[in-house]
Amino acid sequence: MDPIAFVHGMLPVYLAFAPGFDLGAIRESFAYVLDGRGWKMYKRNGVSTALIPVDSVSGLAELEQSVMFTATKIPLDLIRQVTAWFSAVYQKHKSEAVGYLYYRVSDGAWEFLPPTQTVTAASAKYEQAPKRDGWMVVGTIHSHASMTAFHSGVDDADEKSFDGVHITVGRLDSVPEYSCSIVVQGTREMIDPSILIDGMAPADSVPAAWLEAVKLQPPRLPLGPTEVAFTARAEALYKRYYAGAISEVEYLVGLSEIEKAAEQAAAAERSRLVSAVPASVESERNWLGLNKRQPTASRKGRRRKGGKK
Ligand SMILES: [Zn+2]
Repeated sequence: MDPIAFVHGMLPVYLAFAPGFDLGAIRESFAYVLDGRGWKMYKRNGVSTALIPVDSVSGLAELEQSVMFTATKIPLDLIRQVTAWFSAVYQKHKSEAVGYLYYRVSDGAWEFLPPTQTVTAASAKYEQAPKRDGWMVVGTIHSHASMTAFHSGVDDADEKSFDGVHITVGRLDSVPEYSCSIVVQGTREMIDPSILIDGMAPADSVPAAWLEAVKLQPPRLPLGPTEVAFTARAEALYKRYYAGAISEVEYLVGLSEIEKAAEQAAAAERSRLVSAVPASVESERNWLGLNKRQPTASRKGRRRKGGKK
């Protein structure tokens, strides 16, 4: 009895179901055995011979789980028609609904057929898919009434032994949402609607220009009574940003520089005024707000603002 292959070029591999396989005939003291339940390690030393299950065999390529959609894409028109039916059912019954997807391999055509059913807001009882010559039943599409599109525990149970395409449509009371998946052997692989539905844009395909079309609100102006020059600069900068001459980031950086410069100028102006207070005046507060004998531009401005007094 010879090994069917060698791992790492030296560790023998035996198939337990190969003709003539006999555990006792393994000559090596170390080998791998593949049987109906996976990989096992065969080990023989002076006192024992053992066959122990192993999770993995180092040195062998590891393949990722994968599910690929290989049929013709479902026409967008069909999906829109089904969505319109879901909306009509929602309007009438305030409920979900379900139907079967049929595929014709010969020409890649798709069709939809709703079975007879009774429905509630969160469930549907429905008949088996009718057999149709030349067509395969390859999945389901069902609605979630006003709920979001997702695959619920009930959906998982329903679709566990139903290999194929399973689509959920949600938010029938608003802008419909689509959640698409392929189920194989009870394993659900989520796929972007654009892969399954012809003409459906990928969920994240928002052109940058569309995002850039929506602008930030103008800066809050004026920045302050002594900061007219900075206000004009901020306004000019915003105009350039709004016109698309500079990016949002460039605008925000520029605006924060202008604001910082305006703050610094205002602080410098305050300290200049304070240092200009005559020695005879008791306090800065007096001078700025209360001393009527020494009017200044700054004081007038402040008094106007506080006009309610
Ligand atoms: Zn569902």
